[in-house]
Parts: sequence; C-alpha cells; structure tokens
Amino acid sequence: MASSPSFHFYPKDWLTSSAVQGMSNHERGIYITLLCHCWLEGSVPSDPNTLSRLTNERFVNFIRAWRRSLSHRFYTGDDGRLRNRRLELERSKQKAYYEQQREKGHAGAQQRWHGRCHAPAIRKTWPEHGIPSTSTTIEKGVIRSTVPPQNGAAIQNPPLTPAELTFATLILRKRLGRCDHDPPCETPTQCVAQIASGIRAKKRGV
Ligand SMILES: [Zn+2]
Repeated sequence: MASSPSFHFYPKDWLTSSAVQGMSNHERGIYITLLCHCWLEGSVPSDPNTLSRLTNERFVNFIRAWRRSLSHRFYTGDDGRLRNRRLELERSKQKAYYEQQREKGHAGAQQRWHGRCHAPAIRKTWPEHGIPSTSTTIEKGVIRSTVPPQNGAAIQNPPLTPAELTFATLILRKRLGRCDHDPPCETPTQCVAQIASGIRAKKRGV
C-alpha cells in the first residue's frame, strides 16, 4: 500500500513530551526529519552513515545527537530497519479510519442505487417539500385534497420499473441537479417519475 502523504501532528504532545523537551533544537530537527522519512518510506535504515546523509548532517554531529537522545526513540523491526512507535500507531489509526470510510462509502452507494427509497438522497433539492405526503390545501377559498402519486403513479402506464426510476434518479442528481420541468415538480418523487416517463417516451419515439 502506498503511504499516505500526511500524518496527524499534535503540537501539544510534541511540546510537552519529556523526550522532546530533553532534546536540543538541533536534535529536534534531526528527529522530525527522521520521522518524516519513516512516514514516507515506512521505516529508515539502521546504518548511522545513511541516517546522517538522510538528515543532511555531518556524521560526527549526527552520531552525537543520535547517541544522546534519538536512538531510543526508534525500535528495530524484524527486517532490521528502524521505526517509531508513535508514528506506527498513527499509521494504523489512519489506515483503520480510511478503511472505515471506504466501507461507509460502499454502503452508501449500495443504499442509493439498490435501496428502495431514493427520496432522502435528493431531498436537498426540495428542502421545502421533502418526502411527499397527503396534504390538504386551501386555494382561493376552495379546499383541495392532494394525494401525491406513488412513484409517479399518475403519469405511468404501465408502471415505471425500478430500473427506470433508478436511472432517472441518476439523471436528476448527476446531470440536472434540480428540476427543470415546466411547471416545476412539487416533489423529487414526482420529478423522478417525470424524467423516467420522458425517457421512456423518447425510446418509443413518441
Ligand atoms: Zn421535475
């Protein structure tokens, strides 16, 4: 797995760590540079000569800092290379987080494309309407009862298939973004049914 370009850096942990507090600024510079190499390459070589080159330090300066406060910040893995415990902890936390996000994304896509209810996914488009429900309105003194069509029942004959509705939902969400019918649809459900019927009509050459 390619390494992630970034890791979480906790300024407070760094500033209050007794290990870091015991380091000179010179040693801190070498330490953070080694941590960066560790993050990007997964580990660093154990050979002090190579480490001094990696950190742009003359060998004598490097080895003094290394022995004084840096060597025990790293442990040797089975492969003979050096790693830092805290950094490896961050790496596994990050990996777990990304895997969880990937799972969530997958579950979300499953719900959107194979779930029965498409309305919540596009409800944003009609914030004032939401999911259609039976409503009674008084218009110009006349009481009207409106029963919204179920899956656009009023305009389908024969009933639109789930595949047609799913495709229409895709068109609405990805291509149109919002209703462009005239007059505008009252609900997302109605709009999806309109689009699906339109596509069906086009296919039939109507
Ligand atoms: Zn519409």
